[in-house]
Amino acid sequence: MKLDTLAVSCALFGFVAAETRLTGDILQGYPVIENLDITDVPANTISRYWISAAQAQGGGVSYFLPIFVARGSNDSIESGARLSLGGSIHGDELNPVAVVQRVFRELNESGIVQSGDFNGTVIGLPTQNPSGNVNNQRNFFSSSSNGFFYDLNRIFPGESIADGGDIASSYVNTIWNNVWGNGSNVNIAVDFHTLSTGSIGPLWAYADYRLNGVQRLAELAQPDIIKIDPGQEGTIETTWVDSDVPAITLEVGPANNWNQTLISRAVDFTFRLMDDLRMTSGGTPQVDLSNTYRATNFSDVYSSYSGWVEMYISPLEDVEEGQSVGTVYNSWGDVLERLVSAVTGRVLQVQVDPAIEQGSSVASIVYNETMS
Ligand SMILES: [Zn+2]
Repeated sequence: MKLDTLAVSCALFGFVAAETRLTGDILQGYPVIENLDITDVPANTISRYWISAAQAQGGGVSYFLPIFVARGSNDSIESGARLSLGGSIHGDELNPVAVVQRVFRELNESGIVQSGDFNGTVIGLPTQNPSGNVNNQRNFFSSSSNGFFYDLNRIFPGESIADGGDIASSYVNTIWNNVWGNGSNVNIAVDFHTLSTGSIGPLWAYADYRLNGVQRLAELAQPDIIKIDPGQEGTIETTWVDSDVPAITLEVGPANNWNQTLISRAVDFTFRLMDDLRMTSGGTPQVDLSNTYRATNFSDVYSSYSGWVEMYISPLEDVEEGQSVGTVYNSWGDVLERLVSAVTGRVLQVQVDPAIEQGSSVASIVYNETMS
């Protein structure tokens, strides 16, 4: 079922209060908290907090996450939407950092929250994985044994140390329980990502259409591609969806840069979403999907060899089954393999780092199985 507005679905979810607990510490001028309950946060204010999601080796060095909370009027704490905006759970995915920062900057500069006219609450986490940022890397580093990496976006909602979780599991569990209140602080969510390092691509969404509200959320983004997708266990998006909270993963172009065009599109989406949720007063947006390609399937192009790849396709280009898309060379420059598309569809992402390993994907093409 397609909802005319997400406000309808969001009003249905329950609300369980906890408590915002301050540790008494102040970091860079902002208070450190152990737990967030948005009902305790000052109304008509954009607040900033830190939370320590885990302590690393080195005598217990904390991974502090910055938390924005834009809380609207007192009345809106229960009647308004409770929106979560998360960025950079993968540490090389940096467009999302700018997206979350800019949303709160624009909210602040507009004065809407301070005016008493803001209807609801927005929680923003611009940098969900400082360990990944420190290591210039997608994953979270554990120093146990001789050290290894965790993909945090495969282990949500995690487990506390008391329940048997390890450092990475308890880290994500702190976000899940102590920032998002096990869902009580949030009833609609967007997790911003980018492609992995080495590839380029457009603005596109993963959306699990089986949950009411998700399709509308994805369409409000007006992305270049909507991948209608059953989700993946352990991701932030799917953990929300499994909790009946409409959520999408919005992929904002390539890793490790700030692409201002795509950042602006993601910020514009967020303000359209707030209008749609009646958090702001712009009215129900008309979405324009004339440039949005909807697809149900991926077809990746894999290299059989380690070597050097030259690609002939670009994101959003339409390709035909059997079309030549790239060539793999050895270190002499001799041809190892000529790559072709297995399907007719639209190019989603293309590898631009020429150094490739055997078995790795060098392009993803999306297509709609029901149309081919
Ligand atoms: Zn990611």
